Amino acid sequence: MQLIQSPDEILVKVKDLKKKGLSIGLVPTMGALHHGHKALADQSLEENDITITSIFVNPTQFNNAEDLARYPKTLEADKQKLEAWGVDILFAPGENEIYPRKPTIKLNFGKLEEVLEGKFRPGHFNGVGIIVMKLLNLVLPDRAYFGLKDFQQFLIVKELVSNFSVPTEIIGVPTQRHASGLAISSRNQNLSDKGLEIAANIYQGLNLARELILDKKGIKETIRLTGQFYDKVDGLEIEYFEIVHSDTLLSEQISEDSPLLLSVAGYVENIRLIDNLYLQPD
Ligand code: AMP
Repeated sequence: MQLIQSPDEILVKVKDLKKKGLSIGLVPTMGALHHGHKALADQSLEENDITITSIFVNPTQFNNAEDLARYPKTLEADKQKLEAWGVDILFAPGENEIYPRKPTIKLNFGKLEEVLEGKFRPGHFNGVGIIVMKLLNLVLPDRAYFGLKDFQQFLIVKELVSNFSVPTEIIGVPTQRHASGLAISSRNQNLSDKGLEIAANIYQGLNLARELILDKKGIKETIRLTGQFYDKVDGLEIEYFEIVHSDTLLSEQISEDSPLLLSVAGYVENIRLIDNLYLQPD
């Protein structure tokens, strides 16, 4: 695997690969790699000649300095994993190379950024949009892979490439989970064993909500009963649990046959975790 740290160098490299007619898949990450990231890399390896994984802990998408400081950084272990997974190139630029100066542009995704994560993390999707745009412009991928665990991020990135006519196909990859059902996340590394047990209830709650909806309990009652379930879990502090239309992320647009997103965020041992379930109408 080739390690490239300079933006100029990756651009020269990908232009050369493209000249040779090779297709490129990009897997953007913030490192601390795990099986969730591997699922993205696997799909890219299957669908492209060359797979490039980027590792960059993007400061502009953190709206909480403590969260950024605590974010695990494990570059050496990450390199070994990428090598074992068969990834061709690791692009791991430094902060000054990506942000030689502070971006002046502000991206606004309208309603899409005002709900769920956007409501609780002001400026987060502006930061996500800018780094994703930079990576797409530096790597020129045919396809880029994003986890559906961050469903809102996936929709925001699709909106971004659509607005800017970026010729990259954005592909969503299903959420990878631990045996307990807990969505795999780099942030899980900061949880104790007890914390991991508590955190597994986040997914249990989503499953309960799914069953209630399939039982035709209705949205309001499902939210009430799922809220009750979460309230009873010691050590879990739910920030939001919402049921929204999965295209618009708005709750007021739900009808009988809407595809739904059950979306939750909460804290365990001061670590912020998110999860969601996509539910298609029957
Ligand atoms: P991150 O390094 O957390 O920014 O994640 C990089 C990419 O991996 C994002 O597109 C995430 O949505 C995706 N991802 C993270 N965790 C998982 C998971 N458990 N299953 C699938 N994709 C994931």
